[in-house]
Amino acid sequence: MRRLILLCLCLITWVVWADDAPRVILIGPPGAGKGTQARYLSEKYHLAHISTGDILRENRKQGTELGKQAASYMDTGKLVPDELIVTMVAEKLTGDGGFVLDGFPRSEAQAQLLDGMLSKSGHPINSVILLDVSDNDLVERLSLRRSCPTCQRTYHLKSNPPKKEGLCDVDGTALIQRPDDKEEVIRNRLKVYHDQTEPVLRHYQDKPGVVKIDGRLDIQDVQKQVDDNLRPLVTH
Ligand SMILES: [Zn+2]
Repeated sequence: MRRLILLCLCLITWVVWADDAPRVILIGPPGAGKGTQARYLSEKYHLAHISTGDILRENRKQGTELGKQAASYMDTGKLVPDELIVTMVAEKLTGDGGFVLDGFPRSEAQAQLLDGMLSKSGHPINSVILLDVSDNDLVERLSLRRSCPTCQRTYHLKSNPPKKEGLCDVDGTALIQRPDDKEEVIRNRLKVYHDQTEPVLRHYQDKPGVVKIDGRLDIQDVQKQVDDNLRPLVTH
């Protein structure tokens, strides 16, 4: 009898465990390659790729009630309140499937709301991946970027320069530096990033599954490290 109970317990544990999927928060400064990694993860592990920017645009475009509320803040240059963002994200997180959150949570308040929501469903976050790149490296990476105003193609003066200096390879248009890519603007965006993200990292630091990956590595090496961390979470 005791053996049977033990067997049942093992079976239940296995079923619950086997049902598990990666539920990932991807954190990283602007320019660290978060979007690329999020797309990779979402394809490889069949995760829903959830970007708050996309969700906001989608809700606005479809004219949903949440979208209208968000628009009233955005159009007056105000931050969309945490509750509203989390409600929109929650709509996407129904079911047991895995997901990768890109650009969310952006504050400790959002992290707490998210945790509360997920603990109700019994599927908490099981991986927090920080793509770590120093501010100076990012400034170099972004401030050497040049863009073609005609075809939107981007170049990098060091790693991917155009064939003819200052001109687009495709259409010969004079390349420009986007206002977003100027050093002062980048440093400002990085300051905002640090102010917002450090409390989120502190919030998760004692929980399992937090990993820091050197975002200066090649894309493939970053992917390999991401894989090493996610593989144990995929049991089926
Ligand atoms: Zn061009």
